Amino acid sequence: MTDATTLVILGASGDLTSRLLLPALGQLLTREPARSVRIIGADREEWTDAELQAVVRTAFASMGAEDAASRVEARYARTDITRDEDLRSLLSGLAGRVALYFAVPPSVATASIATLTPDMLPAGAMLVMEKPFGTDEESARELNRVLTALVPESQVFRVDHFLGRSTTLNLLGARFANRILEPLWSAESIASVDIVYDESLALEGRAGYYDHAGALVDMIQSHLLQVLAVLAMEEPAALDEIDFRAATGAVLRATSVWGDDPAASSRRARYTAGEIDGDAKPSYVDEPGVDPGNRTETLAEATFEVRNARWAGIPFRLRSGKALGTPAREIVVRFRPVRHLPHGLTGTSDGAVLRFSLGPDRMSLELNLNASEDPFELERATLSAELGEGALKAYAEVLSGVLDGDPMLSVRGDAAEESWRIVAPILEAWRRGDVPLDDYVAGSSGPEGWPAND
Ligand code: NDP
Repeated sequence: MTDATTLVILGASGDLTSRLLLPALGQLLTREPARSVRIIGADREEWTDAELQAVVRTAFASMGAEDAASRVEARYARTDITRDEDLRSLLSGLAGRVALYFAVPPSVATASIATLTPDMLPAGAMLVMEKPFGTDEESARELNRVLTALVPESQVFRVDHFLGRSTTLNLLGARFANRILEPLWSAESIASVDIVYDESLALEGRAGYYDHAGALVDMIQSHLLQVLAVLAMEEPAALDEIDFRAATGAVLRATSVWGDDPAASSRRARYTAGEIDGDAKPSYVDEPGVDPGNRTETLAEATFEVRNARWAGIPFRLRSGKALGTPAREIVVRFRPVRHLPHGLTGTSDGAVLRFSLGPDRMSLELNLNASEDPFELERATLSAELGEGALKAYAEVLSGVLDGDPMLSVRGDAAEESWRIVAPILEAWRRGDVPLDDYVAGSSGPEGWPAND
């Protein structure tokens, strides 16, 4: 039996709790029945324990985790988490392993953390922070300062569920367990890398958050830069919180906008009315709650360079957007062509392409092989493997780290600051108007004139 962990969910009646956090917990407890977790839900709602338990049951049922729901104890405490006396009474008497999950808007989390004092926290308490972590490098640094005045860095969990995605973790096996890949994993053999995460989903009522974030901050600043860090890191001696996070952190410290020219290295666009899978979608600017004056992009693309001996000179193109038709979600590693093709062999000599597709997870390798019709002519052939989804969904993978007290798959404080530092020149260039805000029709593959995903 694993020791019980008390999961204090701050913002228990919110969307994240019911849609992602509790279903992930249900999946985890079904997969690992010996794990024991006690939930304390805190929010401003006038709820009873029974009302929280009903929310837990519904969320667990969405993952087929009804059995786990009957095992888990859930208690509700009406709390304003920005008030000193409320926090004291919520946390007093808690012992053992305790995790405080801030499932509240960032401004509320910041206010709550500013109210907390070390004496209110149970010994060893873990603080779990959602994205976005700060709004720029400075605010992320300040948030880190306040957090690490409360608990040591190893007890701070900055959630980025992309680090728990099986595709991100598949990069580790593919690279580090195969002698045919790792020796080629550098600018010597690789020409470019694309990390693309397009969605067909449009705004889906999330204007309050998204209209101030946009695609660059919502996806590239947080998730996709973490994927880049895993792809580009040096080989860690061990997959643990120290070595893994040192290796990914070093990549981010070495990463900057391509050519230090944000205007030439980034693009942005916003969707107009269109149709996705037969459903009519309004223009982004006509979505409820959107202020067109914010000029929020719903599609962002930016190219970065990792300036170290392994990667200097190689473009890493990161792209993410909403309301796109046939959305691509993949990591594409393009190898250089061979230096010389023997005379007598004709046809394509393009470099090999290694592709990790996300959802359904698949890995494929495109190579040049001799054609069956004419062995002196080359043609493309693709080897591919289905990778399966992973036993746990990404949120459950990250949550299991929280409940185990293992922050390996959480973003370290300096890495959170670095990711803001990396995108800051682009945000400034966009604010200055140096990069046009293009349009694309919802359901299309993006604006005309942009390079297509292939
Ligand atoms: P919601 O607004 O849906 O939920 C927040 C909850 O916190 C509400 O129930 C709210 O109650 C409660 N709350 C607000 N202020 C206080 C307070 N002072 N004391 C106690 N409770 C309070 O937000 P989300 O669940 O959508 O988001 C939570 C966090 O998760 C955010 O940081 C968000 O960026 C992040 N996130 C969300 C995702 C999602 O899909 N929802 C995805 C990824 C990250 P009340 O209604 O009374 O204000």
